[in-house]
Amino acid sequence: MTHSQKVLPESVRVLVVGAGFAGIGAVSRILDDDPNADVVVIERADDVGGTWRDNTYPGCACDVPTSLYSFSFAPSPDWTHTFARQPEIHRYLRGVVDALGLQGRIFTGCELISAKWDSANSRWAVETSLGSLTAHVLVAATGALSTPKLPNVPGIEKFAGTMFHSATWNHDHDLTDQRVAVIGTGASAVQFVPEIVDRTARLTVFQRTPAWVVPRLDRTLGKLEKAMYRRFPSTQKAVRGFIYGYREAYVSALAHHPGVLPLVSNVAKLHLRRQVKNPVTRAALTPDFMLGCKRMLLSNDWLKTLDRDDVDLVDSGLTEITENAVVDAHGNSYPVDTIIFATGFTPTEPPVSHAIQGSDGRTLAERWGGSPNAYRGTTVHGFPNLFLMYGPNTNLGHSSIVYMLESQANYLVSALRQMREQRIEAVDVSEHAQQQYNSWIHDSLSGTVWNAGGCSSWYLDSEGRNPVMWPTYTFTFRNSTRTFETSDYALTPAGKSAQL
Ligand code: NAP
Repeated sequence: MTHSQKVLPESVRVLVVGAGFAGIGAVSRILDDDPNADVVVIERADDVGGTWRDNTYPGCACDVPTSLYSFSFAPSPDWTHTFARQPEIHRYLRGVVDALGLQGRIFTGCELISAKWDSANSRWAVETSLGSLTAHVLVAATGALSTPKLPNVPGIEKFAGTMFHSATWNHDHDLTDQRVAVIGTGASAVQFVPEIVDRTARLTVFQRTPAWVVPRLDRTLGKLEKAMYRRFPSTQKAVRGFIYGYREAYVSALAHHPGVLPLVSNVAKLHLRRQVKNPVTRAALTPDFMLGCKRMLLSNDWLKTLDRDDVDLVDSGLTEITENAVVDAHGNSYPVDTIIFATGFTPTEPPVSHAIQGSDGRTLAERWGGSPNAYRGTTVHGFPNLFLMYGPNTNLGHSSIVYMLESQANYLVSALRQMREQRIEAVDVSEHAQQQYNSWIHDSLSGTVWNAGGCSSWYLDSEGRNPVMWPTYTFTFRNSTRTFETSDYALTPAGKSAQL
């Protein structure tokens, strides 16, 4: 898929930035509502797929069952596993683009450079790497986990071996017989460490905080099951509904009744006892915070990998990187040839927040000051006609983000329809509505395991505020995004000749 045959239009009604699950979901929903909608997507990479295009590390898979982690409007009977692997999720997204005929609207290799709200014309003035355009409505679908984070360790620049981040895996670098250090023990590390361990000469895993790990109840989907899903799509819909339902039950514990969480942590403790025989390693892998406070990890082979004789688990943290080694907090030096950083992302300061400038000239990043907030996770006062997908306080620890994205797409479509029908040129959420909404969000989060579970996590900003998690059931979010309430917004009426 290339942009070579297409020319970026000079103006467009809706500009979507990003062609991952969020952007593809948004454009699909817009066109479903209005097949003649004037909408285009720009994507900085050369292909669609977002995080499922970028994360190609060995073993990369989704830890939410695929029947739920897929678009409700595009079920696939072809998944090979209950927890799909990265290549097939990427293929799935490409398939949705093809099936819905979206290629003609997607400009790959086109990066957003800046978007400034032009109050006089009620338009976004947008600069991209392929030229300028104006957009009436801007949809930022750039993902929260798209900018890899490297640790700020003294000496990192001196390392003479090979280093890379899990999200930018170096496939040209052969790990065979290498001494490898892995920094970080989150959702990415648990997937790739068991995949590379048989190749490496020695593997040293640097853990800062142990995570709760439970078995991944994965299985391959047989021919019969796939045939049934193809012949009777309602059966797959029923499975999706069942998974959705039991996953929602988790919220009851995570957000409302943390007292029941020890039942699940006992399962994790049993899993740990079964997989790790070395008592010192087992102690190092036992978390001291409530399950769910950090993302609970699913793996059948991570813990037992750390129990191997050819694997070192270093739990004192790292203090320095030298030309050829990683040094722990006790001053022990671990000579290595390769360092793989599995140190996560920077979700609270996405690059797009520096590129988008609102009506008072401030960027989103300046307005947020490191702690993003929005109204219904989607709109921000002072940024008219801007819709954020996977915006502040829409992340989940228990279910599928695709469900949240589809809810936001509903809200966007409801807004576009009302703007069209009521001839509204610009909508800007009131400061009051946004403040009230955020008071509710943060009151609701205060007793949850994400805020009060006794850990530090990427869900919390430097002030201990949680701009990331949705605090309750996902159907509450679905209901609150069903209709765009114009009463929460300052409205600019459209002129008689305006095309909406
Ligand atoms: P992560 O969960 O943020 O984990 C980062 C790891 O690096 C943590 O163990 C962290 O330790 C450690 N770390 C960070 N900075 C460090 C430093 N300066 N020194 C030492 N250790 C450091 O990152 P991730 O594993 O890439 O996952 C990020 C998110 O991506 C997940 O939470 C999840 O939402 C998503 N993800 C999803 C899937 C999926 O299957 N759906 C798969 C992979 C990732 P601390 O714990 O002490 O901070």
